Amino acid sequence: MRNSDKSHDELGRIAALRRYAILDTAPEEPFDKLTQLVRDVLGVPIAAVSLIDTERQWFKSITGVSVCETSREISFCSHAIQRHEPMMIPDATLDARFASNPLVAGEPLIRSYLGIPLTTPDGYNLGALCAIDTQPRHFDASQIAVMQSFANLVLNELELRQIAMSDGLTGAMTRRGWVEAAEREIARAKRHGTEASIIVLDVDHFKLVNDVYGHPAGDAVLRVIAQRCRDALRDSDLLGRIGGEEFAVLLPETDARGAAELAERLRATIAAAPVDAGGIPLRVTASFGICALGDRIRTVEAWLAAADGLLYEAKAGGRNCCRSAVPGQ
Ligand code: GH3
Ligand code: MG
Ligand code: MG
Repeated sequence: MRNSDKSHDELGRIAALRRYAILDTAPEEPFDKLTQLVRDVLGVPIAAVSLIDTERQWFKSITGVSVCETSREISFCSHAIQRHEPMMIPDATLDARFASNPLVAGEPLIRSYLGIPLTTPDGYNLGALCAIDTQPRHFDASQIAVMQSFANLVLNELELRQIAMSDGLTGAMTRRGWVEAAEREIARAKRHGTEASIIVLDVDHFKLVNDVYGHPAGDAVLRVIAQRCRDALRDSDLLGRIGGEEFAVLLPETDARGAAELAERLRATIAAAPVDAGGIPLRVTASFGICALGDRIRTVEAWLAAADGLLYEAKAGGRNCCRSAVPGQ
């Protein structure tokens, strides 16, 4: 079921795109198979899975041209995501929106286009599956229906990817998924000169919870803590479970101060109310290390090590508290 019209909620759309943690990832076979199918079944020279980022379209898969992204301004698919229905351009030279587009006037000399929006279950258009020809052409109803089915398969693949990256107990990202997303965020922040921060948190005296109340009670505590974190985070922040009772939050476009404020809020929220651990109300707390990317940090390992060092200081400082620093300043 589609939620209300989200076509004007650009921030929500970008946050949804970040949740799938797919931008700038390596090619993957399921997506490449689908673009090849589009090319073969529709008989077009070019097909792509295009995801519309803030200022670019990035291709998870593309066949027929060797580019991995273009600016958003010249993207056909950025038009397709404005609606929840297929967009067909039979002859781009006759369409005022595209006639002078450099992809029409120059290579790859686009003439016709069919794009199906890739709509998430919560109603955001992440991008489009598109078929492109260098000849003018009209795509008929059965071709549009086939494309719609392929677009549904692209969405299924995106969902499966996300499930594979989720920790079964808490629903947070797995360590591996989170680390990969953090690696890409480092590259992105360096490229755009933006800031990013991480928060690492570790449950205090968690071994005691297991020892006194049992492992299932411990599991319940971990689930509740993950949920409390999610409730306090923005949609674009990524929560990962990076160890047994250790979580990390990736905060794009957030400086040390913003991250420290958020960490303090998380700390207070976790400590405020007892957790229902299978019918037993338990008071739990966590300790926090916060680290902005700054100028010096180049790798996720260094970033996590810096945040972990601060987390250790928080533990040494009495637990249930936050420690932060901005490296390089
Ligand atoms: P500190 O305040 O210094 O962090 O103490 P701690 O007891 O939280 O830390 P310690 O590292 O000694 O213990 C962590 C415990 O977390 C030990 C381990 O059995 C438990 N643990 C790890 N993964 C899970 C899990 O998935 N479920 C449960 N219930 N317990 C887990
Ligand atoms: Mg602990
Ligand atoms: Mg620990």
